[in-house]
Amino acid sequence: MSTATYPLSKSEETWLPEFETCEDDTTLELETSAFQPQEANNDFSLADIMRARDQGMGVRQAAREFQGVVKQLESQGLNLYRRTLLDPSDAEARVYYPSDSHCREMIMLASNNYLGLTNHPRVVKAAQQAAEQYGTGSGSAPLLVGTFPITRRLESQLADLKHSEEACVFASGYQTNVGVISSLVRKNDLVVVDQLGHASMWDGANMSDAKVRAFKHNDPEHLDRVLTRNHQSGTKLVCVEGLYSMDGDMPRLREICKVTRRHGALLLLDEAHSTGVLGANGGGTAEHFGVEDQIDLHVGTLSKSLASCGGFVTGDSDLVNYIRYFARSAMFSAAPSPMVMAAASAAIEILHSEPSRRKRLWENSHFMHSELERLGFQTSNQVSPIIPIIVGTMRGLRQMTLELHENNICVNSVPYPVVPHGSERLRISLTANHTREQLIRAIEAIRLAGIHAGLISAKGR
Ligand code: PMP
Repeated sequence: MSTATYPLSKSEETWLPEFETCEDDTTLELETSAFQPQEANNDFSLADIMRARDQGMGVRQAAREFQGVVKQLESQGLNLYRRTLLDPSDAEARVYYPSDSHCREMIMLASNNYLGLTNHPRVVKAAQQAAEQYGTGSGSAPLLVGTFPITRRLESQLADLKHSEEACVFASGYQTNVGVISSLVRKNDLVVVDQLGHASMWDGANMSDAKVRAFKHNDPEHLDRVLTRNHQSGTKLVCVEGLYSMDGDMPRLREICKVTRRHGALLLLDEAHSTGVLGANGGGTAEHFGVEDQIDLHVGTLSKSLASCGGFVTGDSDLVNYIRYFARSAMFSAAPSPMVMAAASAAIEILHSEPSRRKRLWENSHFMHSELERLGFQTSNQVSPIIPIIVGTMRGLRQMTLELHENNICVNSVPYPVVPHGSERLRISLTANHTREQLIRAIEAIRLAGIHAGLISAKGR
């Protein structure tokens, strides 16, 4: 396929939602029009295929053409998606990619294993023992006979961690948001989601019959205006994240809590990236800000700090019970395997017994963030274990990702349309297990790749 270009329509500019335009929001239009869709045409992106589909190309033709592009990129060693991990997802791991002649021992800066527990002997042992005792699969939905004693134990640990009355687990964090949001709101209701909220929140909101609105990222004043304009709605649900997955910034949670309460809305806080990472006891961002009692629904995943897979929601017992019976993504899907329940349960025990892991994670985050800033990279304005390096073009992004791959540094690259044009980025994530020596090696490779891509000068700052 030629990587022919197609003009972008307004709605295709980005996967990010558009704001509700309020009459007094004079800045909004400026901000959205700052995205430059033409830039997508400099290089291939998924948006080309989406656009072709919207202009009438059938799905079979689009699939064939897309496959052609992927094969072409793969044959040139330009597509680094679907690398195969030959070891646990730890600070260093062997990685195999078909266009390489050998597997690589790579420094892993692309895993969300923040506390470094995916390979912890107690976590692995717990999963093994659960498999021996209960088998490998749950065999049923949670409301039927897919719940084991270890599931109940984990739910009670999660409720304690979040200082909530009750918890309910799901097979993934994605399914949790989709199931929770779509079960709580119906026709005549309203969901307001932070503009940078995770795709699973948007999908849950869009699956319901409720009115769905975005508010400007981390802007409680704009949230206030959106809620005021929609005051006649029935149940109102506001959804924000504890640590935003692409920028690593925290919400202005105290102000958001105040606004939400003033409007009598429910507040859902997705702590996928902040559970185990923030708060004196690893409870998350609500604990960090001391507002746990003002959050109606704490959502999270078991797949990051908790070293397993699955998701959960905690809150008051009546709400969680309602969700258990009405969330279709739980009702019509098998319960999580007892192995993954046991692994997450052991990870929570370690989270409590080894607070030094959280301390090391933050030391690593501060070190990496300050070094990247010192070198002159554009990164986030808050320190966290998620560190974006803004590259700004697809071409630059590909060049840097490949150069880092060649130097055995594994990073995630985040292209348009996942993030707006001009903010294409490398996304670095750190774990407690990274040693200073590994980070220094990685920083040197990133420095050289940044110079070669023209992002920073050889002299540094
Ligand atoms: N919410 C957020 C904020 C996330 O970043 C993610 C995953 N990246 C999810 C939910 C989904 O979690 P899971 O991977 O367990 O499906």
